Amino acid sequence: MVRFVVDSMAGKLARWLRMLGFDAVYERTGEIERIIQMAHDEKRVILTRNSHFKKVKLPKDVRLFFLSSEKTHLQLREVILEFDLIDKIAPFTRCIECNTPLEKVTDKEEIRLKVPYFVFRTHDEFSRCPSCGRIYWKGTHTEAMSKRILRILGPELSEKLKSSLS
Ligand SMILES: [Zn+2]
Repeated sequence: MVRFVVDSMAGKLARWLRMLGFDAVYERTGEIERIIQMAHDEKRVILTRNSHFKKVKLPKDVRLFFLSSEKTHLQLREVILEFDLIDKIAPFTRCIECNTPLEKVTDKEEIRLKVPYFVFRTHDEFSRCPSCGRIYWKGTHTEAMSKRILRILGPELSEKLKSSLS
């Protein structure tokens, strides 16, 4: 599965990719050398809009993809099409904050005190980030996100995706 390092000019894209289940780290400093090193060490594809990358000689094993759009939702579409990711989308399986794969909460009682009471009472499916502890649940928020994702992808792609988002 392809993994990404997103440079600081496209930080929001990293969150969207995570939301769809993809491994996307975000390099805050935007330092080209660091991004290239990370891409090399962790076998990640660089996603960037920084034209300075065009002047740098990349190591052989490092792949870079230039995002042509400034808009996050269009960038997301570009990446999905370029890397043929439509069949690999697995929404809400990765922590949006820290990029760690989520774990299913098997015993709901464990998270009773970690979510609002109303949420605890009205939901049965929860996931937890083993790294930062954030709790996720399927609810109105995720439904709104799913709708947004489908809009971004457009009719032909979203048709393929609908089953995994429901
Ligand atoms: Zn996390």
